[in-house]
This record gives sequence, structure tokens and C-alpha cells, in this order.
Amino acid sequence: MKLEISRVVQGCRLGTLTGLGKTGQHSLETPGCLLYTRCASVPHLTQDTLHTLTNLPAVTQVTLATLAEHQEVLEEFKEGARTFAGLHDTVVYCSLHDPAAPSPPGYTTNKTVSVWGSGGRTELTVARFMALQAAVRPDWYQNMADGETGQENTSRKRVRKAVDRTLSHLDECLLLHQKMPELRGAQVWGVVEGGDVREERVRSARETAKRPVAGFVLDGFQSGAMGDDLRTQLLTATTAELPHDKPRLVQGVGRPDEVIACVEAGVDLFESFFPYQVTERGCALCFSFSMETDPEQAVLDSDKEKTIPEDVVQENGSDGGGDGPGKMTRFEMHLRDKRYREDFRPLVSGCPCYCCRHHQRAYVHHLLVTNELLAGVLLMLHNTAHYLGFFRALRRALAQNRLPDLKQQLLQCHQGH
Ligand SMILES: [Zn+2]
Repeated sequence: MKLEISRVVQGCRLGTLTGLGKTGQHSLETPGCLLYTRCASVPHLTQDTLHTLTNLPAVTQVTLATLAEHQEVLEEFKEGARTFAGLHDTVVYCSLHDPAAPSPPGYTTNKTVSVWGSGGRTELTVARFMALQAAVRPDWYQNMADGETGQENTSRKRVRKAVDRTLSHLDECLLLHQKMPELRGAQVWGVVEGGDVREERVRSARETAKRPVAGFVLDGFQSGAMGDDLRTQLLTATTAELPHDKPRLVQGVGRPDEVIACVEAGVDLFESFFPYQVTERGCALCFSFSMETDPEQAVLDSDKEKTIPEDVVQENGSDGGGDGPGKMTRFEMHLRDKRYREDFRPLVSGCPCYCCRHHQRAYVHHLLVTNELLAGVLLMLHNTAHYLGFFRALRRALAQNRLPDLKQQLLQCHQGH
């Protein structure tokens, strides 16, 4: 794997990861996102349905949280999660937790971390974690990490302990990695912890960078963990310590405005759980990123379509908290709302996805209110297409020195309310 940075604009890195996969046949443009899955499948979609979308990311994220309880089956199967789930040709990255289902705190010890799947908790030692990786057989995986520093009032002592434990887990993972033939050719990504303590972030980044890792996973910056300004300061301090020629993936950040803020702080890669959360709350992404729309029209459109109904805001919990769909954002429209009952326009006009080419808002509204499973299929197709389109627009904006225009366009989503 090689990261070729073609330009750096005010901290934003535009580049391409090349030589990915065991034979080096894949590449991934950055800033970019991975393809989100649960149990190694994109929720709601079969592989054939998914591949009606073009320009899918070359890297698929699978999570130990959703695979841990299938360890024996995967070991018996012997060919890894990619073949087990029937994935098309893709690079597989295995993370510890599911970004759309944060783990409850209080289950981490010096030697273990816990992941939560549909059947409950699985406690992992490094040995069990590595045995699972050997069964999943990813191309990339993150080391086992203590990320339990996201609560308010986490003490400096606890944050220091998280950094120490994570470095110790990384060393153990790297040692075992050498001894496992199933993981030959796979690459380890080092997890950077440090909560909201700048010195610990810097120490974690420096120490992780000394180890033979392929890239860096920046943990503990997820939506809601800290304020936007603090996140930007800490991310900037962290990425300053990392080598330029290795990619940085931030966990738990999905909202378009937050994605841009992270890119400005030197982040290259994101998880794409956000379109899934939007789908689960019966919404469709509809923010504009074309940079060619008439700004006045964009404001009018957002006024008309994206007003958040009171009941939706009250019903849902905090953004990204728990396993629920989270709080609605200004980047989406709530298609359950009765205003769409006779709206015969596509979800987003000009969107090339299957849903927008064949259906109208009124039909998806109808599917949602009658609880038809097809609603999830159509919304997931559209939301994934829209989100990938946003990342393409972001790269284009960086290439053309037009990031301020794109940010301005996203800001207009604010003004719509
Ligand atoms: Zn669409």
C-alpha cells in the first residue's frame, strides 16, 4: 500500500491510496470513506443491489462486534468473512466496534476489551482478538484498543491508562501477527487514543508511529464526544505527529460538516455509517454539494424540504448515541412526514441512483408509513449514492481550490431552518 498525496491545501490532504489488497489491484482516493457493513453486509442490500451503484469504495469495513459471536463458524469455514458474506472483490478492513452502535462503558480491564453484538457481550483478550482476526482474514485491521475515554469527566489518569494499554495491546498484536499464517499479507493499523488530553494525544501518536503500522486509526473523536473546536485542535495536534506517507482514519465521524472539519485537520478516511443511520430514521440525504446550484434557490429548497418536525427531534436520542437511528440532521428530509404524501418528485432530482430514477418521494413515504422493507432498500441505495457523491465533490473542491464554496453550500443547510 502506498499513499500518494497530490496536494495539500490548508491542511487538507488530497491523494490516492494505491496497491491495496493482497495483489495490489485496488486503489482508494482520499479524502474518502470505507463501505459500512453489519455482519459483513451493507444493511438492507444484497451485493447485486449494492452494485447497481457505481464508484463504490474499494475498501469494505467489517466489525468484530458483529462477527465475534460467529467465530467458531468462521474458523470452521476457513475462508474468511469476505467469502463467507459473498462480497464482491473488495479490500476488507476489520474494526473492533460498530460505529453505529457504540459500546456501553465499564467493561474494559487491563487485559480485555468487550464488544457488543446482537447476542450480547463478548470479552476479548489479545489472544482471542487475534484468533478472531485469523478467522475473519481481513486485509487491514486495527489493533485491540482501550477507547473508553469518551465520557465526561474522564480523569487524566484514566486517559493515560488508555494510551498505555492500547500501546501494549498493539505490541502484543504485532507479535502474534507474525506467528499467524492466516494473516500473512494483512496489515495492522495502529489506534491513537488520548481522550481530550492534548499531551496524551501527542504521546499516543508519537509512540504508535514508532511501530510498524500501515496507517492510523484516530479513536475517541466521535460525534458528541467533545466540542467541534476542541476536536479540531486535538486532531491537528495528533496528525502533526504522524508520518505524512501513511493514511489516517477517524472513527465515528459521519456528518458532512464534521467530515470537512476533520479533513481540514489532516484526516484522510472516514467510516460511512452515516447514510445507514439516516436510512434507519426514515430519512433521505438531500443536501446540495454540486457547487453549481443557484445559492438563492438552494436556500429556498432547504426551507421547503428540510424543516425538522418537532416530534422527530423529541423522539430520538443524542446524535450517534446508542444503537438507535440518532437525531435527525439538517442534511436530510424526513420522508415519513405527510407533506410527501403527494410529492411526485424524485428524492433528489438529478441523482443517478436506482431509487431516484424509478420512484418518487410519495412512493417511499407510502412504503415507510406501511412499514414495508423495500423502504429501507430504496433509502439505503439513495443515501449511499448521495454520501459517496459528497466525497467526490469534496475531492473535486480540494483539487479546484473551491473548498470554501462547498462549505458555504453546506452552511446554507443551516439557514434553511
Ligand atoms: Zn438517489
